[in-house]
Amino acid sequence: MAKKQFKAESKRLLDLMINSIYTHKEIFLRELISNASDAIDKLYYRSLQDGISGMNREDFSIRIDTDKDARTLTITDNGIGMTKEELEKNLGTIARSGSLDFKSAMDGAENSAEETIDIIGQFGVGFYSAFMVSEQVTVLSKAFGSDEAWQWESKGADGYTVKEAEKEGHGTIITLVIKPDTEDERYTEFLEEYRIRSLVRKYSDYIRYPIQMMVEKSRLKESPEGAAEDENKQPEYETYMELETLNSMVPLWKKQKSSLTDEDYNRFYKEKYYDMTDPVKVIHTNVEGVLSYTALLFIPGQAPYDYYSKDFEKGLQLYSSGVMIMEKCPDLLPDYFSFVRGLVDSQDLSLNISREMLQHDRQLKAIAQRLEKKIKSELLELLNKDREKYAAFFKNFGLQLKYGVYEGFGMNKDKIQDLLIYYSTFEPEAEENADNAKAGPSRMVTLAEYVSRMKPEQKYIYYAVGESIEKIDKMPQTEVLKDKGYEILYMTEDVDEFAIQMLREFDGKEFRSVSSDDLELEETEDEKEAAKKQEEESKDLLEFLKESLEGKVTEVKLSQRLKSHPVCLTAKGGLSIEMEKVLNAMPIDEKVKAERVLEINAGHKIVDTLNRLYKEDKEKLKVYASILYDQALLIEGLTPEDPVAFAAAVCDLMTE
Ligand code: ADP
Repeated sequence: MAKKQFKAESKRLLDLMINSIYTHKEIFLRELISNASDAIDKLYYRSLQDGISGMNREDFSIRIDTDKDARTLTITDNGIGMTKEELEKNLGTIARSGSLDFKSAMDGAENSAEETIDIIGQFGVGFYSAFMVSEQVTVLSKAFGSDEAWQWESKGADGYTVKEAEKEGHGTIITLVIKPDTEDERYTEFLEEYRIRSLVRKYSDYIRYPIQMMVEKSRLKESPEGAAEDENKQPEYETYMELETLNSMVPLWKKQKSSLTDEDYNRFYKEKYYDMTDPVKVIHTNVEGVLSYTALLFIPGQAPYDYYSKDFEKGLQLYSSGVMIMEKCPDLLPDYFSFVRGLVDSQDLSLNISREMLQHDRQLKAIAQRLEKKIKSELLELLNKDREKYAAFFKNFGLQLKYGVYEGFGMNKDKIQDLLIYYSTFEPEAEENADNAKAGPSRMVTLAEYVSRMKPEQKYIYYAVGESIEKIDKMPQTEVLKDKGYEILYMTEDVDEFAIQMLREFDGKEFRSVSSDDLELEETEDEKEAAKKQEEESKDLLEFLKESLEGKVTEVKLSQRLKSHPVCLTAKGGLSIEMEKVLNAMPIDEKVKAERVLEINAGHKIVDTLNRLYKEDKEKLKVYASILYDQALLIEGLTPEDPVAFAAAVCDLMTE
């Protein structure tokens, strides 16, 4: 019998696919099982429409058989089957299969062979993927309602034959003769039970019909009737074959929410995502409409060990009517919610869709947008209803939210800012929170809460940056604000101040670091007058101190903000000393330097000493200037440039 040729473009594609170096050869099984399931669907729906009696959902199944000696893998369904014409039409033209997108992608690109292979790999072009693992494919099919069966057969690119055949009952039997193993590829594994089982679980677990296979089991061998009992005899086992359904069929997310318990969700999450900790939040949503989808999302109870590393890949699993089409679809989650795990199942998505296509898929974009809103509203609810739980969540993933504020020059800040919480000096009512008054979750406040408590005359949202809550608590710069009863937010993470710079303001109130050189506090006229006078009187002294520090500081000034401490260091302009530390810890060649201001407590005795020395002993004043500067550095958590000189100078003073 003369071989029929595949249509022209099909031949080229098939050639490429057969010789494909594509690594995900395993998807062929998913494709064939999906086809089988579709064929059953078609028949089942037709039976409902035409009122064909005697057909029940339970009668349908997909069966997998292997024969290691013959190297065959067979997939059998009792679906609608194909007529001779359908076999020719459906399996004779490769570009017809899958979606039109595939063809247009191929037309649009006069690509190199390698790129083309890549495209093929990503599409998974349905039935033809069988050729990635087979040297011969046979399709024996009998259409429902027909009494002829036909057999289609092909060894690949050189064409196919169709001949009449015998088959009992409607449906299709696809037999693959699996390729021999090569150096690079062990095809034999597609004949092994464990591999087939795991592929079904991975890709086709939620196909709605049972996928069955004869599997080997073992049981205790019964001793023959009447045989003498031997006490010392080891129990003997025997193996036997049993038909097993490999897939679980109904996905958890397709079940009624009301029928599911927290326990169900938690178990599902832990098994599927290999996490030992329960999620802090489960989001199960079912959307019907122009765009229908089900999403089952989890916010993990702990960050994966590689979460804050470049190895971490965000993404949700993507299913099309219960069939997994992508393990990690990154486009469903914005980076700042990259910690969310879970899946989206939509019947509106095509099975044969590539990564590149997905990025431009309008439906996917729409789903992503709605998911983002949903995640945010669920987080806000947690924030308002259970601060303790939210604080625990924030401990794990707050950093990611802050990165999100910073990224892209703050383009997403408006979406994230309500989710931020910070440690605050605000003391909650003692009786309410006696247990965790200090450092407890109730001390973690939102920006909105801060603003709602601002004093009438308070201009700014004040924050302090440092290594730890304890260290910030002792910062001299915070003294005057605490005195005035202003709330201060404490920030201990590297990214904090960078994120704050992106936020710039919240609810119309600008942020101001307690370490900025001007706190712009309201002063009375008298206070202003006195400060000005003192500043005038000390002008020469301050200039001298600045000169003697030889460019280490931009300014030396008298400060009203300090209460008990003699000195502190603040910064002018956008770059703070904390930011300088962070940036200089990075592996970049050019080091940055904040514009430092040495502030001396105007009300401190040290000012008198300095004034006296200015008149009497300028050399000594220079030494004092450098000691004061080094002290300010130490308070900031920085090391003096010359620690030995500093120690010596202090010792000289002690032995004077
Ligand atoms: P797709 O499934 O994306 O349309 P395929 O290349 O996988 O592309 O299949 C081409 C067509 O062949 C299908 O649309 C279907 O009409 C038919 N087909 C494939 N497998 C079967 C099957 N097991 N039973 C009935 N028809 C089938």
